[in-house]
Amino acid sequence: MSTHDLTLIAGSAATNNEAQVLSLRHLIDGEWVSSASGETFERRSPSTGQLVSSVAKGGMAEAEQAIAAARRAFDDGRWSDIPGADRAKFLNKVADLIDENRARIALYETLESGKPIAQAEAEIQGAADIWRYAATLAWNIRGDSQNALGPDMLGMVLKEPIGVVSLITPWNFPFLIISQKLPFALAAGCTAVVKPSEMTSATTVILGELLVEAGLPAGVANIVLGYGDPIGAMMTTHPDVDMVSFTGSTAVGKAIVAATAKTLKKVSLELGGKNPQVIFPDADLDQAADAIVFGVYFNAGECCNSGSRIIVHEDVADALNDKVVALSRKVPFGDPLNRETKVGAIISPEHQSKIDGYVKGAAREGAEVLLGGAAIELDGLDGQFYQPTVVASVTPEMAIANEEVFGPVLSVLTFKTFEEAIALVNGASYGLSAGVWSENVHTCLEFARKAQAGTVWTNTWMDGFPELPFGGVKESGLGRELGHNGIDEFLETKTVQMRIGKTRQMWV
Ligand code: NDP
Repeated sequence: MSTHDLTLIAGSAATNNEAQVLSLRHLIDGEWVSSASGETFERRSPSTGQLVSSVAKGGMAEAEQAIAAARRAFDDGRWSDIPGADRAKFLNKVADLIDENRARIALYETLESGKPIAQAEAEIQGAADIWRYAATLAWNIRGDSQNALGPDMLGMVLKEPIGVVSLITPWNFPFLIISQKLPFALAAGCTAVVKPSEMTSATTVILGELLVEAGLPAGVANIVLGYGDPIGAMMTTHPDVDMVSFTGSTAVGKAIVAATAKTLKKVSLELGGKNPQVIFPDADLDQAADAIVFGVYFNAGECCNSGSRIIVHEDVADALNDKVVALSRKVPFGDPLNRETKVGAIISPEHQSKIDGYVKGAAREGAEVLLGGAAIELDGLDGQFYQPTVVASVTPEMAIANEEVFGPVLSVLTFKTFEEAIALVNGASYGLSAGVWSENVHTCLEFARKAQAGTVWTNTWMDGFPELPFGGVKESGLGRELGHNGIDEFLETKTVQMRIGKTRQMWV
């Protein structure tokens, strides 16, 4: 295939020079501080190679100080004791500040992650709404009561903030993912230590600036910059941390469960996925193809929800593949700072090699690369770009059918019967999301019941709402974010039993 068959967006020098290089520091106990060691590291744009940020490299000392600050701030009640309504007002103020700063946040999100600017702006807008949704929950922290325990007993179930929480986030949706955690933790009355991925620290630091501007008391939210080792490790083992909420790879998620076991912390995990979409013969193939192309190339496929595993009925496989390949050629990919771009750069050279390894491996095992299958250099850009790639004739035992590629790569498998399709869906170790395409509501409902997944989409893909919980089963995670569950994760349950009057002796 010639790359002329693809819709390429070249780089523009004008758009690349607008941003100042940021100097990023830790937020600990309300102060912006450098690392005690004085060490820093750099983040360069994955699309142009330009320097975006110089980042303080935190170590054990910064992690310890941040945890101690969060502990003090929780224990003295400066945040947990104020009414939920006041916490709600604060969260709404942050949402307004996010809106006011949307363009700046989106610019740095794009520069550090390589995602398209229009998409980044939509994500920041969506994140502000999540802060507003979390504010509604802060008004509504309610427990329960039990008034049928006999005449001399009343039971109450209280909901209390769990305490100090460690929030660890990845590089693929830095601002959105911290916004799925922090406002809910704050709504509950918790205090937090936040660690973004070392590749995408900038927008978490900008969020910290907005928290300070909105008047968050010192120590309630702390940010430590640097690497999983040693900061993440300290945040998951320290006895003063009560809970860990993590989004990232399943391998690190498992390591976190092991690390937290010694102090038996609560753990909430949003991990990987190998998300199937099943296309039945009666599906609207045009709509399905459009959603498939969106589902696999969105965020260059660097997305836990990537719809990367197509399971199509063999009667319509060729027709669907033709449509998907034709649409894939039209997807504008290239310069993330161009507003037309829909697929941007790959986060790092190492990650691009990993993506390519999966495609080459599948080809060696007999799969057919219908489109793409290689990195590509784009005029005016000095970064990593991977062609939209469609791999057909994939069989269930191939690595590309089971493992998270985390790139713009679609795998297509075929099936003959409903049972066979469900067996393929549920054969994966992951269980994040699944989709079904059929005009028959009975097929959709039966699929929704039988698919092992935290979210099932019928005749659509990757819609998301703050009101609806999100999370995975099996090796895709533990717990749920968003919806009412979003705040419940950060609340502990306390049972209070009250004797009424002195009508009865306790024992003897
Ligand atoms: P990781 O899971 O390696 O990292 C996610 C976060 O955890 C980062 O902030 C990282 O820090 C931190 N971390 C790393 N090791 C530890 C540890 N032992 N204890 C505590 N925190 C730790 O994801 P990557 O960003 O490296 O991506 C690797 C792969 O993970 C991807 O290829 C993809 O398959 C998957 N992934 C899945 C995501 C999802 O949403 N499900 C999101 C992102 C990635 P640091 O990297 O700064 O050292």
